[in-house]
Amino acid sequence: MGESVVGHRTQVHNRIHEAIQEIRADIVKLSLDLHRHPELSLQEYYASERLTDWLVQEGFEVERGVADLPTAFVARRGTKARPAVAFLLEYDALPDIGHACGHNLIASGGLAAATALRRALPDPSGSIVVIGTPGEEDGGGKIIELEKGVFDGIDAALMFHPGDRTIPWRHATATAHLVIKYHGKAAHAASNPQEGRNALAAMIQFYVAVDGLRQHIPETARIHGIIVNGGSAPNVVPDYTEASFLVRALTTEEVFELVDRVTACAQAAALATGTTVEVEHGSPIYAERKNNHTIASRVSEYLEALGEPVEIPVLKGGTGSSDIGNVSLVLPTIHPYLKIAPLGTSGHTHEFREAAASPEAHEAMLHMAEALAKTGADLLLDPSFLEKVWEEFRTSGPDLPQ
Ligand SMILES: [Zn+2]
Ligand SMILES: [Zn+2]
Repeated sequence: MGESVVGHRTQVHNRIHEAIQEIRADIVKLSLDLHRHPELSLQEYYASERLTDWLVQEGFEVERGVADLPTAFVARRGTKARPAVAFLLEYDALPDIGHACGHNLIASGGLAAATALRRALPDPSGSIVVIGTPGEEDGGGKIIELEKGVFDGIDAALMFHPGDRTIPWRHATATAHLVIKYHGKAAHAASNPQEGRNALAAMIQFYVAVDGLRQHIPETARIHGIIVNGGSAPNVVPDYTEASFLVRALTTEEVFELVDRVTACAQAAALATGTTVEVEHGSPIYAERKNNHTIASRVSEYLEALGEPVEIPVLKGGTGSSDIGNVSLVLPTIHPYLKIAPLGTSGHTHEFREAAASPEAHEAMLHMAEALAKTGADLLLDPSFLEKVWEEFRTSGPDLPQ
């Protein structure tokens, strides 16, 4: 970079820092408001409205309901289409325990980053994009948006996730969500059992068969599920049962192989019980994750400068998965984790939900927003940085455990 470019970049970074101070009170208010209004996947109407209203006020051109998803949106600001830097916002919550994954912080932190970058670069020669990505917990909103072209022309996708440590990257498993449905024949369970074909007996055989299968799958794979419908009355032979199962492995290819083996378990139980079975995908397959280390390292540098210590993780053991994986295989993407809770606090718990509303979490989230905005500025202003990012993307694969 030439000296004037460096000087300009420093000015922009300083302006980002100021902008974060300007908006911090409103951003925290918004985050707590979202936390108090948890909404299930693909039904995040309240959050989507609050976030898009903010973006309109901030001078973004906003399109709501993209990819035929009512709560998805895209907001843009800039004088040229490329380069385009996108901040990704998640805002769905979980059944019963609300914002126990802390997506209120993802949404408000991403919004803060985009706002600060917009104020520092009011008319960027490129695009600042905000993509509202609903249905992360269930439904795979990003995968649907990807398929419908929402990510076309995006040069880098930036987001973060709350956690119990601050780390720049992590591997994530690929996951299929299977819905298993048995159809039997109802009959009086005492007077005419011979007329019946028991869909619950089939389901239980399937469940046990999967337990047997589990001994002989890769150590890094996971198969787990629940029965969501086990019949309606004890004196009626169940004619319908349904289960929801997740099949996880290191790569999408491995997931496909395991789905075939799980399907064989399901068919065997149907054959044994004289029932029929349907095995369906409840949502698109979540892919493995390919973190862009060039971008993530830059974010870490800015986080450390703000006093947020960053650990480099040893990649091992079980992990969750997210629809960000699918995006990450198509364009340079980051998904760092930000410490908002004591080490060992896991997501999807009451403790994590409380942490997601704490002052400490919001302090950390504002640091992350500033680091993401500064990194976004670098991507827009420094073509050689963006080139390095794409060079890594072209020559590297997904992160895998050691
Ligand atoms: Zn989450
Ligand atoms: Zn979650």
